[in-house]
This record gives sequence, structure tokens and C-alpha cells, in this order.
Amino acid sequence: AAKRNQRAGAVIFNAVQASELSRQKTVEEALLAADLETELQLVFQPIIDIALDKTVGYEALVRWHSPSLGLVSPGEFIPIAEHTGRIGLITRLVLKQALEVAKTWPDDIYLSCNLSPHDITTPDYALRIVSTVMSSGFNPRRINFEITETAVMHDFDQAIISIQLLRDIGAGVSLDDFGTGYSSLNHVHKLPLTKIKIDSSFVRDIHILPSSFQIVKSVLALSAEMGLEAIVEGVETAEELAVLKDLGVRSVQGFYFSRPVPASETISTQSVERQQIRA
Ligand code: C2E
Ligand code: MG
Ligand code: MG
Ligand code: MG
Repeated sequence: AAKRNQRAGAVIFNAVQASELSRQKTVEEALLAADLETELQLVFQPIIDIALDKTVGYEALVRWHSPSLGLVSPGEFIPIAEHTGRIGLITRLVLKQALEVAKTWPDDIYLSCNLSPHDITTPDYALRIVSTVMSSGFNPRRINFEITETAVMHDFDQAIISIQLLRDIGAGVSLDDFGTGYSSLNHVHKLPLTKIKIDSSFVRDIHILPSSFQIVKSVLALSAEMGLEAIVEGVETAEELAVLKDLGVRSVQGFYFSRPVPASETISTQSVERQQIRA
């Protein structure tokens, strides 16, 4: 009986796998046919300094409006773009668009852009990022790049070289989704990083989950020791925020403050001037 059940399980598993594969194939084909220049759009999520209660930056997050598939989330299409070779183009388009929007912001607001594993493990790709930044005229010191642990672990030596190239022009580099990957702390401290972004999974219900509380507390201590700024992602409730404040967290992102918003709803230099005139 056990054998038969196992077989049934295998059949069901294969059916699920098959439908996932066919969806992947569909997305892959649509992506190859897509006019990325017009179909990709960015939204921006504020990064808040909770001590000052002020927006200090925005993370650019890509959205794909496919004529055939509708809105496709980056969680779905970015990994597919990664193995079909379109990611290099997507990264540059996103960065270009994001820089244009960031130029409308006051000087004390920075731009944070996500990079894919491809972008930092492909030799010389970082140079193309650097040249995109330089030709935009936007101050590289106001840019932060977000990379994931998986990217770093994929080719550690190349990752160091790429991160250093981005640091050399004055940009910051943060380790995104910290705690969800496999990187050992031993590795992290060898990377020329400037920030650590603590993954939202450790924040969810932190006010009632002692394990999450302990993890966030240790990661905060560790980042302080390594001289890295810690940013906590995915804050959704006042209860979670209160605990983070008690732990001394400075920067957060999350739906509690704001969902990602279109470029037109970010703080522009003009809107700040209008406010000052009214005040
Ligand atoms: P990420 O970089 O870790 O971005 C954070 C994700 O969490 C975003 O999802 C954001 O909308 C969501 N989020 C923010 N606050 C909250 C919250 O309070 N609660 C919950 N439940 N979620 C929250 P999004 O925009 O769907 O992006 C998913 C992932 O796709 C990103 O994770 C990033 O890894 C990737 N991605 C997005 N844009 C780009 C891009 O331009 N380039 C690359 N390479 N990857 C991107
Ligand atoms: Mg990110
Ligand atoms: Mg993240
Ligand atoms: Mg995340």
C-alpha cells in the first residue's frame, strides 16, 4: 500500500510540476517577445528613518505589464529572465528609468536598486552598471544596490570584485533578504558591503515570536559590530514597529508606512518647495 501511495504522490507531484513548467514556458515566451522598454514600469517604496519619521530613500521595484499575461510579479519573471538571458537588459532599463525619477527628488533622498545574481557574477557587467550611472549624471553616492546572498554564494570571488567596482564610484551595496539564504557570517564580513536588509519573514509577528525577536536582535548586534547599517523590511503593524524601535532599529520599509507607489507619488523637489512656501 505504501508503494502505491508513493506512486500516487509521484503522479500528483508530476501534475503540479507539469503545470508549473507550462506556466514558466508561457512566461518565458512572452518575455522573449516583450517590448521591455514600454512594458516595464517601476514603483517605489519609501525607506523610512523611524527616529526622524522621515523618508530617506526609495527602493525601485519593477512591474511587468504584459499585453498577453497582464501584470506579472517580479518574483515570477525575474528568475525566468535570469536564465533566459534577458536580465542584463532588464537591469539596465530599470536602472535608467529609476535614475530619471530619482533626479526629481531632493538631494537627501537616495535610490536603492535591486541587482540579480547575473549582474554581479558576470565579469564586467558591473562596469556597464557603472557607465549607466555615470552617463545619467546622478550622484553615485545617492545610489544603493541590493544584492542577495544566493548571488554572492554563486561566485564569491567575482561578487567581491563587482561589489568593489560599485563601491569605488561611491555607491552603497546592501545584502538583501538577509537570513533567508545560505551565506555564513564568515563570508558576509569579507564582502565590501554597506548595509544589511533583514528579511520580512523575521519581522512578521516579532512582538509574539521570541525566536524572531532573538534573530533580529542578534543580526542587529552583528551588523553594528561590522559597521553595517541595518534596514528592516516588511513592517506591517504598529506592534511590529514598536518592538523594532525598542531594539534600536533606525531604518525600515513596509506596508505599515507605504506600499510601493508610482513615480508621480514620490517626493519631488518641487513638492517640497511648495510645502515650504505654504509653511
Ligand atoms: P525585495 O527586493 O526583497 O523587495 C521587497 C518585496 O517585498 C517587494 O515585493 C515589496 O513590494 C514587498 N514588500 C514591501 N513591504 C512589504 C510588507 O510590509 N509586507 C509584505 N508582505 N511585502 C512587502 P515585489 O515588488 O513583488 O518584489 C519581489 C522581489 O522581486 C524583490 O524582493 C526583488 O528580489 C525582486 N525585484 C523587484 N524589482 C526588481 C528589479 O528591478 N531587479 C531585480 N533584479 N529584482 C527585482
Ligand atoms: Mg530589495
Ligand atoms: Mg528584500
Ligand atoms: Mg524580501
